[in-house]
Amino acid sequence: MTGFKHIPFDRVSWITTSFLSLTLLLALTAAPAYLIIYGMGGFMAGLFAFYLIATGLSITLGYHRLFAHLSFGAKWPVRMFVLLFGAAAWENSVLDWVSDHRRHHKHVDHDDDPYNINNGFFFAHMGWLLFKLNPEPPMDNVNDLRKDKWVLWQHRNVHWIALFMGFILPAVLCGLYYGSWSAALGGFLVVGVLRTVIVQHATFCINSACHYFGKQPYSTRHSARDSWWIAFITYGEGYHNYHHEFQHDYRNGVKPWQFDPTKWTIWLLSKFGLTYNLRRVSEAKILLAELTEARRRMDSGLAVIKNSDLTEAARARLHSSVEYLHMKQEELATLYYQVQKGVSERMEFSKSRVRLWRREIQQSLSHLEQMVSRYREVMTA
Ligand SMILES: [Zn+2]
Ligand SMILES: [Zn+2]
Repeated sequence: MTGFKHIPFDRVSWITTSFLSLTLLLALTAAPAYLIIYGMGGFMAGLFAFYLIATGLSITLGYHRLFAHLSFGAKWPVRMFVLLFGAAAWENSVLDWVSDHRRHHKHVDHDDDPYNINNGFFFAHMGWLLFKLNPEPPMDNVNDLRKDKWVLWQHRNVHWIALFMGFILPAVLCGLYYGSWSAALGGFLVVGVLRTVIVQHATFCINSACHYFGKQPYSTRHSARDSWWIAFITYGEGYHNYHHEFQHDYRNGVKPWQFDPTKWTIWLLSKFGLTYNLRRVSEAKILLAELTEARRRMDSGLAVIKNSDLTEAARARLHSSVEYLHMKQEELATLYYQVQKGVSERMEFSKSRVRLWRREIQQSLSHLEQMVSRYREVMTA
């Protein structure tokens, strides 16, 4: 029981802690029990799906890409939808959420990062919510959003809006549709509580799993990582390495085949004039980031090979492969300067050219990986 001594009980945020524990408990016990006893009719299933998408997207599209990063503009129906259904996700107000998130980007992996992954997976996931900071950091990074009177209205009334939109409304709708109190209970437990817990933990995964699992094709200066399977449970936010590198891009999954329903929704809404000024980073700039990272990996891979303790015979055997890698290293450097020049002169490269270069980068890196593993084999033989 010595572990409890280290918990700062005086700083525990009891309301948040109780809410997160109680909803999780209900989602794991009462909600499945309800579904076993009463089942789920078509209307309730439809409402559950609608709420899952509406509240999830309000966080990723609204709180995150619209309000925190201003990566596009949106007309009032979109903003209003996000304020109402975002509150129903029970992740606090836009102002609170954005303030934390902008600090996360500014101080990522350092003490002032509110969900710093270096404090452990659980801390980044939800542990940070369980304790109050002393003193609370000033919310001086959201002054641009204070100009919006509806954002301020949501901030002042967020718990009432959340209670009504998140719990009461689904209960009333299910109760009226099926004409029974048990259906109202189902609306509350399944569409309200269970859905809240799923959306919350999906969002929490962006702060924990996305800084823990996956690849870093754009930068290793921070812990953010790209992983396709997290994108599936986070409405496309799994491409977090790209996002930390280019936070003002409305896309997180920047490649056409990457699963990013948030990006697709923003794009689709722009076709109806509901969103506008979608910000995109140029292909050349993205390629330059990939090249920087590829060169860094190439250099450190070659350093491993150079510093390894090999016999003369083994070294001679692997000589031509190393020569080949040096050639690739030079090719990457030349390409880097070519692209860098393109970026500074604001040149747009053709899609086929970028595709060709990207293939060259990938080939060089896979050669490097093969070589490093061959070296390891020779060294352990
Ligand atoms: Zn992050
Ligand atoms: Zn972000």
